[in-house]
Parts: sequence; structure tokens; C-alpha cells
Amino acid sequence: MSTKEFIEKVKNHEIDIVEHTYKLIEECKEINREYNYLNAISEELALNQAREIKIQLKQKNKSIKGKKLLGVAISVKDAICVKDVESTAGSKILQNYKPLFDAFVIQKVKEEGGIIIGKTSQDEFGFGGFSVNVGIGFKVPLNPFDMERSCGGSSGGAAGLSQKLGSHIALGESTGGSIVEPASFCGVYGLCPTYGRVSRYGLIDFSNSLDKIGPIGKNIEDVALLMNVISGYDKNDSTSLNAKNEDYESYLKKSVKGMKIGIIKEAFGSGVEREVEKNVYNGIQELEEEGAKTEEISLELPIKYGIATYYMIATSEASTNLAKYCGMRYGAAEKLEGSFNEYFTKVRSNNFGDEVKRRIVLGTFARMTGYRDAFYLKAMKVRTLMIQEYKKAFRKFDALVSPTTSILPPKFEDIEKLSPLQHYMIDVMTVSPNVAGLPHLNVPVGFEKNLPVGMLLIADHLQEGKLLQLGSAVEKGK
Ligand code: GLN
Repeated sequence: MSTKEFIEKVKNHEIDIVEHTYKLIEECKEINREYNYLNAISEELALNQAREIKIQLKQKNKSIKGKKLLGVAISVKDAICVKDVESTAGSKILQNYKPLFDAFVIQKVKEEGGIIIGKTSQDEFGFGGFSVNVGIGFKVPLNPFDMERSCGGSSGGAAGLSQKLGSHIALGESTGGSIVEPASFCGVYGLCPTYGRVSRYGLIDFSNSLDKIGPIGKNIEDVALLMNVISGYDKNDSTSLNAKNEDYESYLKKSVKGMKIGIIKEAFGSGVEREVEKNVYNGIQELEEEGAKTEEISLELPIKYGIATYYMIATSEASTNLAKYCGMRYGAAEKLEGSFNEYFTKVRSNNFGDEVKRRIVLGTFARMTGYRDAFYLKAMKVRTLMIQEYKKAFRKFDALVSPTTSILPPKFEDIEKLSPLQHYMIDVMTVSPNVAGLPHLNVPVGFEKNLPVGMLLIADHLQEGKLLQLGSAVEKGK
């Protein structure tokens, strides 16, 4: 049953929404026992919302019929604040933090009758690509197709749950690839919108100039539907774009005939697993069969300098954002002893995981007097050049294509052997569109050794519609 059909059935009393939600929550608990996709299940909130919908339907309240997400289960990456539900961004330092307010996207979801089922697991503060960098005391989510493998990250729980749980859409978040990369490893669709298209109000920051909230779903309609609900201007986010609202669902039916796709030359060949490449080419062929025109394009900066540029900017911003977790405002606290400096050090060393500490050191270093020009400001300059290079490409092409990841989902035992730098390399395809603030979409294109492969489509700023149009063509062609 599609989400649209589900909503109709809820409206027509063919589905009892309270019963349905109860069952879904039980299913979540069951899945979670094995796969660790949820840090918190918001049972009370979900059932209260369902009861409210049931009452309104009984009273034949007119406005209820127009709700875009009526009764649809929505999971939320742990970094996004939900009022009265523990929101930790996957970190021990935020354990027991229950926000007093809803993030903008949560307000929107609630307004449209979406039911919040829980907070999905992630790398601590989003610092990772395999969801293995979870905070102290948190569990690592497992790949839905092979429990010995990673489901990607940092929105690992969101992508895994999207694959495992029927009638559900997830809210993920990406700084450098955390929506599309886990979506690829879990065989689902994930759309990272243009920077500023979806408000960051109520998102626990990783890197302010890079963070984006976006939808992850089992099919492209679900992604477009949730995107319709969460996008738009918000005065509470100073970087929110005041662009006109769009009907993203309307793009799903449009033909891709005549659209021009640039195949990024540097993203294929050495370093990319053959099986991945083969499936991505199948996806490209699908688009050609639907009438899109393809041509190779060479983009020098994104693949070559993406990782270095991204990690300078992201860790610099992260290191300042993390300064507020000192045991005084909210989250973890320790016994107050010694000087304040000793106290802060104790709180931070006992409650931050290793990767968080590494990024604080790296980011602080890159911003220090004497290094700032050489590292942080240099990265900002490369960022501008990268945007220019992309913009030039989009004068000719509607979208660019590459694999989403260069490898199939790896085994945990192999991830353990990686150095921090090798960890960072997993995002080689995805960091640059993030650095440039460009919208990008993961489209599942096939299976290899029973593991999913994803294709990455990148479009110009605010051209999410084109991505959905192309993704839908591939979905239909399959
Ligand atoms: N893997 C990248 C990192 O570790 C991106 C993560 C993200 O997008 N949140 O920073």
C-alpha cells in the first residue's frame, strides 16, 4: 500500500489509526532489539497523536481531511529536537536532555498529522560515515541486509529503519553525506536538499554552514511528500532561504526526455568497486532509455579536494559548536569539584567519545592564530572555487551523476581496521555537493552479493524537483 492509499484509508475509517500506531510501535521495539535503529521510541507521544487524530476524525473535523501526512509514522534523527522526547544527537553528554520545544520540521510534521515514532541512532553528533562512532553507551545500528555490515552513517538508524519498517518515512540530516550515504547502504531513497531550503531551527548543530535536514524513504513518492511538508522559509533560521514553495510531488510524473545528465569522469574507475560501477551504469542506462541525454564531464575540484576542504570547514565549525557542552547548561553533569576548568574537562572527557575529541582537536587547530589563513580560510576559498566549477557544469547539465559510495556496505570487522583518515574517505563522492550546498539524491539502482548499490544525482541549487523527476524515472524503469 502506498502512503497516499494509507492516508485515504485512515480518513475513511478503514484503518484504526490508534490500533495501527500501537502495532507499529511494537514492530519498532521488535526491530530495535536486533538492529538498534532507535535511541528512543516515543510511544506516549505517538499514541497521543493517534488518539487525537481518531477523535478529530470521529468529530468529522473538516481540516483533518486535508492533512498531508495524516497518521503517517515519521522517525526523527536523534539530532533533531522533539519536545519532551529525549534528544541526544547520539551523545552521552546530552543524555536525559528533553527539549522544551519542537524543531521547525517537527512542528510542520505535527501540523500535517504525521506521527512521531522515535529518535533514530546515529554517529555521535553526526561524526562518521558508518554509524560506528556512536556515543558512550549507545548501540551501533546494523545493516538491514547483513547484520555483520554497516548501514552507513551518520543517519544510519534512519536509513535502516526506512528499509525495515513499512509505512514509515524518516527525517535524516546531512553535513557531508549523512543522508545519501546511509540511504545507499540500506537500499532506500534519501534527498539532501539545498542548504537553507529546510530550516535548521531545532537541529543540534554539527557544522552550521553545512547542516541540512532531509527525508529518507522506501520510495520516491514518500521522499517528495515529506519534502513538501518540511521545506519553506523560517524566520527562526537566519540561513533559511526565502524561495517560493514548490510542489515536489508534481515532478514525479514528468518525463525526463531531453534532460541532460553529466557523468562525472573522476568518480568512476580507480578506487571504485567494479560491482558498484556496473550497477550505477545500469541506472544511467535506465535514464537514457527514458529519454535523458548523457555525456561525460570532467570536474577536477570535487573529487580531488572535497575531503580536505570539507573536514577543515566541518571540524572548525564543530569545535566551536561543541564548546557549549560543559556540564552547566543541560545534559551530563558531574560532581562540582576543583576549578571550573577542571570541572569542564572532567565532564567533557567522561562524556564525549573518541571521534568527538579528535574533531575538537582538529577543528581548534585549524582555527588557531597562525593556522587560520593556511587551513580554514584556504578551505573557504576552495569552497568558492568548487561552487563556481559546479555552477559552470549546471549551465550545460540538469544533473550530475556518480556512485553514492565507491564500495558496497563494509563489514564491521573491516571498518575496525581503518585509520581515521580512511574513515573520512567513505564520503569522497558526497562531501563536495554538501560543501557547495547543492541538493543531491540517492537512488537505489540494484543489488550485488545481496547488498544494495546507490546512484548519486546532484542538481543546481533549489532544483530538487529535477532530482525527484530523474529518481522517479529510474524507479519506474526498474
Ligand atoms: N561522514 C562525514 C563526517 O564524518 C559526514 C557526516 C555527516 O554528514 N553528518 O563528517
